[in-house]
Amino acid sequence: MTVTVSRPFKVAIAGAGPSGLLLALLLAKHGIQVVVLEATDKLDEQPRACHYAPSSNIELERAGVLQDIKAGGFSADGVTWRKKDRTPIAEIRNDVMPKDDPLRMVVLPLNQVTEIMYKHLMQKPTAELKWNHKVTGLGQDADKAWVDCETPSGPSRVEADYIVGCDGANSQIRRSLFGDFEFPGWTWEKQIIASNMRYDFHKFGYIDSTFVVDPDDWYMAARITNDGLWRVTYGDTPGLTKEEYMERLPMRYEQMLPGSPKPGDYEVVSASPYKMHQRIAPKLAEGRFCLAADAAHLCNPFGGMGLTGGIADVGGLYECLLGIATGQADPSILEKYDEIRREIYNNMIDPISTGNFKRLWEKDPDETAKTDEFFAMVRKASEDKELAKQMQLGILALRHDMTQYYKTPKA
Ligand SMILES: Cc1cc2nc3c(=O)[nH]c(=O)nc-3n(C[C@H](O)[C@H](O)[C@H](O)COP(=O)(O)OP(=O)(O)OC[C@H]3O[C@@H](n4cnc5c(N)ncnc54)[C@H](O)[C@@H]3O)c2cc1C
Repeated sequence: MTVTVSRPFKVAIAGAGPSGLLLALLLAKHGIQVVVLEATDKLDEQPRACHYAPSSNIELERAGVLQDIKAGGFSADGVTWRKKDRTPIAEIRNDVMPKDDPLRMVVLPLNQVTEIMYKHLMQKPTAELKWNHKVTGLGQDADKAWVDCETPSGPSRVEADYIVGCDGANSQIRRSLFGDFEFPGWTWEKQIIASNMRYDFHKFGYIDSTFVVDPDDWYMAARITNDGLWRVTYGDTPGLTKEEYMERLPMRYEQMLPGSPKPGDYEVVSASPYKMHQRIAPKLAEGRFCLAADAAHLCNPFGGMGLTGGIADVGGLYECLLGIATGQADPSILEKYDEIRREIYNNMIDPISTGNFKRLWEKDPDETAKTDEFFAMVRKASEDKELAKQMQLGILALRHDMTQYYKTPKA
């Protein structure tokens, strides 16, 4: 879509996380005035998403950042599921897609991705990012929507034609629209710790991503940079403080990781406990307000359906807002956005992410290895390259072309 919007049309986006920056880039490239309001004074640096699936690559390419992300990142060799004693259960090799295929999964820590998005956004003449603008309230009438922000120089009101909540799991936009505790779904009792660390997993035969299936010592170990940084996400006893989890980290590494390493055998770069939820907001569009990504829905991070689903929301919402801005779509297209994204969450993101996590610990690993249908399919795919490719591209079903609901043909 190369159409440029000539009439005044402004979108305000709460949150300069990956979803907010991506939406801003996609809209600003058409000359739409975009203002991103960020509560803090810098981009988030916590250890989070790192893997970008084929469906995400399409949106990153449309926003003009995929090439930079590929240049900074790498293409992982595949994913294995193993028992704790390292016996392989199933394996997917990524080489069914050539390294230069734009759809092939790319790996780069999220903070480096948002840095790239931010740099690109600052080159767009119609885009603006206001740091230290914490959204605290909102309102709308027939002509416009507004958010009230807390800023170091006092309260400030920002008005726009449409306002999008990309303000993460604790979204103020969602709370203001539906109430502080209206985020239907549930919270996992299990506690995870996401750590970034350096350790030679390859020495133990691990490939770039490994899931360990074990009732107690389940974990994921994935290489996330070219220079050997790994993400190790594991479980620990619920209900402890952050300090207690950090004290227990060396013991948990020694219990779980291959070679039973002791401090000194590895370097911990960062680590943080996370609560996990499966939740979706009551609505993803309400008048001139919309929600996308973590503000709209949450899932556990095993299998990377969180940001992958969020990026697919952003792609759809971009098409809706561009359609409204150009007069090609009625505002009612946002009701369709709500309907479609909810359906995709309920039918794909929620059940697949839940299955990805439970598969690691729910049953005896030998029984899971023998009876799990997903593992059976992965093993079949390791003999059948076409099936393996189809499995990798299955994630494209997270995307939904919203231009089909335009009232006029697409530009
Ligand atoms: C341990 C872990 C590992 C993960 N791994 C993966 C993975 O491998 N693949 C994957 O796809 N996903 C993964 N995820 C999920 C992924 O990181 C999130 O889905 C993603 O960061 C959500 O992006 P977002 O832009 O919606 O929200 P966020 O990244 O949370 O950004 C929200 C932004 O809004 C700002 N903000 C908040 N409140 C306000 C306010 N009131 N006013 C203004 N600004 C505000 C925040 O400061 C922040 O900058 C992982 C998550 C965790 C916890």
